[in-house]
Amino acid sequence: MEKECIFCKIIRGEVSSEKILEDEDFIVIKDINPKADVHLLIIPKEHITSLREFNSEKADMLGKMLLVSKELAKKFDQAKDGYKIAINVGKGGGQIIDHFHIHFLAGNLTGLP
Ligand code: 5GP
Ligand code: ZN
Repeated sequence: MEKECIFCKIIRGEVSSEKILEDEDFIVIKDINPKADVHLLIIPKEHITSLREFNSEKADMLGKMLLVSKELAKKFDQAKDGYKIAINVGKGGGQIIDHFHIHFLAGNLTGLP
């Protein structure tokens, strides 16, 4: 539900967040509970529940969000040697927030799959 969705609230500016980047289609914020030295979330402005709701019409947007990781890697020294991208899909996939997002993780990744 868009109205109660925490990420929609962040996008609308009703809930504060540490914003790293923004463009017309997505925002990048710091994760509130980081699991690595750098833990960012790439979030589409449109409320799309999960990867399962993407289709070929939205493939460009998905590609754009994945490619922004290259820009993020330049911004953060911890990502110089590499970084991890993760997408949790559905409850069984570990997705807690039902608004699609891509995790960008860098630095101290031990313990992460
Ligand atoms: P998921 O398990 O759904 O893939 O990941 C959701 C992520 O969102 C978690 O890593 C969690 O720490 C983060 N998160 C949850 N609520 C907030 C919030 O209000 N602000 C920010 N910045 N991150 C959040
Ligand atoms: Zn939402």
